[in-house]
Amino acid sequence: MDINQISELFTLVTGAQNVITGERLALRNTGYCAASYDGGVLLTPGSAQEVSGICRLAADNGLTIVPQGGLTGLVQGTATASGQVALSLEKMNRILDLDPVQGVVTAEAGVTLQQVIDAAEPLGLAPGVDLPSRGSCTLGGIASTNAGGIQAIRYGMARDNILGLEAVLADGTLLDLSNTLLKNNAGYDLKQLFIGSEGTLGIITKLTLRLHSRPSSVQTALIGCAGTEDLFQVLASARKVFGGSLLSFEAMWPEFFTQIATHLGTGLVSPDCGIYGVIETGHWGDVGQDDTLTAFLAQCYENGILLDGVAAQSESQRRTIWQLREDADVIESRKGPCLSYDVGLCLSDIPGYVEQLQEQIARECPGVGCYVFGHMGDGNLHIMAGPAPDPASHAAIDGAIYGVLQQFPGTTVSAEHGIGLEKRAQLPLSRPAPALAAMRRLKTTFDPQLMLNPFKVFLDLS
Ligand SMILES: Cc1cc2nc3c(=O)[nH]c(=O)nc-3n(C[C@H](O)[C@H](O)[C@H](O)COP(=O)(O)OP(=O)(O)OC[C@H]3O[C@@H](n4cnc5c(N)ncnc54)[C@H](O)[C@@H]3O)c2cc1C
Repeated sequence: MDINQISELFTLVTGAQNVITGERLALRNTGYCAASYDGGVLLTPGSAQEVSGICRLAADNGLTIVPQGGLTGLVQGTATASGQVALSLEKMNRILDLDPVQGVVTAEAGVTLQQVIDAAEPLGLAPGVDLPSRGSCTLGGIASTNAGGIQAIRYGMARDNILGLEAVLADGTLLDLSNTLLKNNAGYDLKQLFIGSEGTLGIITKLTLRLHSRPSSVQTALIGCAGTEDLFQVLASARKVFGGSLLSFEAMWPEFFTQIATHLGTGLVSPDCGIYGVIETGHWGDVGQDDTLTAFLAQCYENGILLDGVAAQSESQRRTIWQLREDADVIESRKGPCLSYDVGLCLSDIPGYVEQLQEQIARECPGVGCYVFGHMGDGNLHIMAGPAPDPASHAAIDGAIYGVLQQFPGTTVSAEHGIGLEKRAQLPLSRPAPALAAMRRLKTTFDPQLMLNPFKVFLDLS
């Protein structure tokens, strides 16, 4: 079927204005996945019923569907190719209900995280999941990738925050798994299958997210330590001192920190530290200006585990601290395109992993920069490495990242970004063969014609 025939087909269920092709499609931003619109057709339905009709029609005509949210995914999960139809939830962008007493928000899947943050704030509430991509990423994308983010140490991942959802299956069935209760053990918790399945089992059209009481104030500090072991001691102390008030504990290795600090023209702390961190704590109630974090930093300094540290004295200083951690795109603007990785390890293995990785890259990939940062409290490292101008250098960097990773027990090749197209070859490094076989059985049970997000997650399904 050519693009015109596909357009005519779907115009029947969703209307011509929601079938985008040609120049209208070419003008769109493809987000973090250059191939988002390579299939040549984008559908923008306005309701779950339309999504259901599209899936039925696609199944009857042997077409496949690629669900899309804000296109901020980092593993090419929204890529399309000829014969694959992109389906964006962007027009399903209404917050349907926000119940401050129950502490839940129910919204269509195309609602952005920022929309939820803005709607919850006046009520003294906030979602537990927060990501630097908050302005664009959608609730559907967050659910489908089981996103983690900068407060996972406090509130868990998307999976821990989603109470219910509605999904359209490959055959068009509208599966209503709505739930606003914290406790609901009535049979299997099917919603969990859709969370983290990257659009391969169903298209999420609506979901209910827990909201948490928003801190009346937050304290944020940038710290520098001599090395990772000291940073771990700061983490252990912070857990003891702050308990549930510890919202974020992030890390930046010097190669990463220096690039961003130079770009922003600010370091705030000594440039001679072996590792840098961001700590954020929340405070609830009428506490006014809380100085617990400053006192904590002073204690760490006295104990010799902190080389330098500064607690933000204003909102603009707090924003600068977070920019130092979140503006990872600066690396690519200064150093050119990089490969990005998202691995997870036990905390005690992180120093050895990073040291061995940097040695191997320096030895086997001359000229390649290796920039490490991430959600230290969760054992989740993000690594940017480049340049990798050809397949051979790409393979050498992959070999270093995953070869060294395999030397440590209990690791993961994807802590939070998922598998998409990019990490399919590495999935077996993190999941044993029987688990992979069970995943494939699940996929073919829900989607026997392999219609939803084809070729994603598994290398060997078709
Ligand atoms: C600057 C930046 C920082 C980031 N930081 C983090 C971070 O801290 N933690 C983290 O976990 N991620 C992070 N990410 C990755 C990304 O933002 C998340 O994976 C996010 O959840 C993707 O949401 P999205 O709406 O953009 O999804 P998309 O990119 O559009 O899609 C992602 C995947 O979900 C599927 N999908 C999307 N919507 C639906 C739906 N309604 N139903 C079924 N499947 C669907 C797609 O097919 C695709 O496989 C970051 C990305 C950027 C660019």
